[in-house]
Amino acid sequence: MTWSFETDPDFQASLDWAETFMRAEVEPLDTVISSPYDLTDPVRQRLIPPLQEKVRANGLWACHLRPELGGQGYGQLKLALLAEQVGRSDCGPTVFGSQPPDSGNSEILAEYGTQEQKDRYLRPLLDNQIVSCFSMTEPQGGADPSVFTTTAVLDGDEWVLEGHKWFSSNAKFASFFIVVAVTEPEQPVQHRMSLFVVPADTPGVTILRNVGRGDHVGGEGTHGYIHYDQVRLPMDSLLGERGKGFQVAQARLNGGRMHHAMRTVGKARRVFEMLCERAVSRETRGSKLADKQLVQDMVADSWMELEQFRLLVLQTAWKADRFGYGALRGEIAAVKALMPTVLRNVTSRAVQLHGSLGTTNEMPLIAYLLDGFTMGLADGPTEVHKSTLARQILRGVTPAEGIFPSEHIPAVRARAEALDAAAATGGSAVRDV
Ligand SMILES: Cc1cc2nc3c(=O)[nH]c(=O)nc-3n(C[C@H](O)[C@H](O)[C@H](O)COP(=O)(O)OP(=O)(O)OC[C@H]3O[C@@H](n4cnc5c(N)ncnc54)[C@H](O)[C@@H]3O)c2cc1C
Repeated sequence: MTWSFETDPDFQASLDWAETFMRAEVEPLDTVISSPYDLTDPVRQRLIPPLQEKVRANGLWACHLRPELGGQGYGQLKLALLAEQVGRSDCGPTVFGSQPPDSGNSEILAEYGTQEQKDRYLRPLLDNQIVSCFSMTEPQGGADPSVFTTTAVLDGDEWVLEGHKWFSSNAKFASFFIVVAVTEPEQPVQHRMSLFVVPADTPGVTILRNVGRGDHVGGEGTHGYIHYDQVRLPMDSLLGERGKGFQVAQARLNGGRMHHAMRTVGKARRVFEMLCERAVSRETRGSKLADKQLVQDMVADSWMELEQFRLLVLQTAWKADRFGYGALRGEIAAVKALMPTVLRNVTSRAVQLHGSLGTTNEMPLIAYLLDGFTMGLADGPTEVHKSTLARQILRGVTPAEGIFPSEHIPAVRARAEALDAAAATGGSAVRDV
């Protein structure tokens, strides 16, 4: 039996390099780059590509990918440990070639794409020469795929795509969109949808608005509200099999949810560092914040919640290396449901300990706090994941035989008394053991 919490020395050296690199060269970029997905931003173009070269030189580029696609084949546990470093900054995933949704989109292009789709989109996407968008959620609902109404209908040798999509992140920066559309309306929901690769400049693709998060004041955000208005697509725009879009989207989302959680450990740890630094730095009423018991309570709760979450993420990654994500629906749901709560809790305490400063745009904390809310929605609401987890757990539970629970003390005591009586007479009350 092997059971270990140690990292092998070679990989630990890579992690140490990544940590130093992130702190010194990547984390500061978040203050001057408004979006690492905006390839037209000259500041971004000056600063990020040289750092991507350093990551490549250190063998840590696109570690989520299989080796034949340019990744390292490290598996999920090593990926989780690395993502703890990468997740410390919003620019980190792009610098390490693992930014969502490009990471998930490249995986499904590699798995299901035609040769032409791969030639046109996959290589430039893997090299971060272009960015992409996943367009599934609709204005009338995202958590329930049975309400999706965007359709793709065959007309001669073309598909005609019609409908509205909501919160298609990075649409305005993307060269292509992967769109979820109903192609088999009469089928049950799991077999109703197909995926399409839609170039951003296809006639009829209109971004109605770029919706911003609540803390964006004025200007545009990055979440596209899109009208696909009678968009005509060639037959080979289909990605994967007709009617299998739901399964492909789910498979993509499972890995994506875990990768998000791995990075969130890093972000929450960074916030925790800020919280602790403030506690030992700030004095009030004659002593450090760190000396007040109510502050110690915040430090201890934050550490415990963070470490519990981290261990669940690492254990799930370890299981994924053995059994694959397909076998881990409950675990992934648990990780996904915990992630926003942990980030919100730790960040709320950090805001509080920083006093007025914590609420300002001179600290990153309010943005991280809002991340804690958006994480409870992106890739599915927390409530839905809790339901999934509970159903998975309860599926394996046997109902009690009678009206009383199997742990009903009178019945348990009767069994114990029978054992005692048998022992007293030198026999056994337990048969057929
Ligand atoms: C930052 C961010 C990025 C996103 N990026 C993308 C993207 O790139 N592409 C894309 O297609 N979508 C994206 N989304 C959309 C995301 O997938 C949806 O927000 C999510 O699926 C929820 O859909 P909704 O917002 O329509 O909420 P609804 O489906 O209307 O749900 C609203 C609320 O109702 C409750 N609820 C819903 N279902 C249940 C249930 N079964 N049981 C109990 N309560 C329930 C929950 O509280 C839920 O939050 C993004 C969202 C965010 C916040």
